[in-house]
Amino acid sequence: MPLQTYIPAEADLTSTGAAQAALHERAAAATRRRFGNRVFVRAVVEISNFCRENCAYCGMRRDHRALRRYRARHEQIAELLIHHRPASVTDVNIQAGEDPVAAREIALPLVQALRRKTPLGVSVCLGTLPPALYAALREAGADIYIMKFECADAAQYARFQAPGTLAERLRDIRLLAKSGWCVSSGFIAGLPGQTPGALLKNLELAWALPLCGCSVSPFIQSAGTPLAGSPACDPNRTLNAMAALRLMRPEWVIPAVSALNLVQKNGYRRGLRAGANLVTINLTPDDLRDDYVIYKRDRFVVTEERALAALAAEGLVPSSEGLAEFYRRQSPNGAATQTAAAAIPA
Ligand code: SF4
Repeated sequence: MPLQTYIPAEADLTSTGAAQAALHERAAAATRRRFGNRVFVRAVVEISNFCRENCAYCGMRRDHRALRRYRARHEQIAELLIHHRPASVTDVNIQAGEDPVAAREIALPLVQALRRKTPLGVSVCLGTLPPALYAALREAGADIYIMKFECADAAQYARFQAPGTLAERLRDIRLLAKSGWCVSSGFIAGLPGQTPGALLKNLELAWALPLCGCSVSPFIQSAGTPLAGSPACDPNRTLNAMAALRLMRPEWVIPAVSALNLVQKNGYRRGLRAGANLVTINLTPDDLRDDYVIYKRDRFVVTEERALAALAAEGLVPSSEGLAEFYRRQSPNGAATQTAAAAIPA
């Protein structure tokens, strides 16, 4: 584990004005030192919105009965990614609600097809699965598992009905890292009742986990959920947490999440100024995308045009090196980013 040269503090997470501008500039400078002006560009395909979990903050929770559910056909998604992906895309993230059927019957053959027919790096974000299914996905050629811990406080985690228990989630993050995956995680800023101290705990937990990257997503109230009436996260909290994450872990890949634009006009671009070095283009077919509603139907959909325009406006360029390739170059077996941290108990 690297020496911790920056210790995140509540004062940074709540900073405004000149102090906030200085924090974001330090984070942007740390990103530039490590990655230059290159930003990773990946695509996401949302293959299923079935979910057996019931997270209070998510519009795809199982109790949201009004939502039309879908599972994509893996052949359709493979065709799209093999023959019609934008030129700037080096990696793909295959994402779904926690739907083991989709993981087995859609994601797995899709990973196999992509590995056979494209040089794309493959990430998966499919929730908590049986170890044999993690192993099958890895064997098929996926490199990166995205497993968000959402909230570092076990009582809050339970209150928001996040998947399983926090201990189980952390156990699986460690299990994945130990079995050779690059693991990226993430947490939510601005959940109802979250104090600056509670937000800080997320950074502390992220530090202690065997991760290659981490995201910060702003809480956004979603229709059809118990939190539909709660206020959305202050965008500054999210951006400050991203900046602190970057200073804490200069080597991590930190995405600019599309939801930043739902909480603030140009929030996405501000993310690129606060330490983000990954953008994600949405390639989910139009007829399915409207029903993938983690937040709300009125999504901010990142197209290649929008992503490249945001990068250009910030003086950044798409990386020709893919994410998976980058991780392999850093550490052929992913060990450098994982070993010491994996030893820290839950
Ligand atoms: S956050 Fe993920 S696991 Fe939770 S309800 Fe939404 S899709 Fe399911």
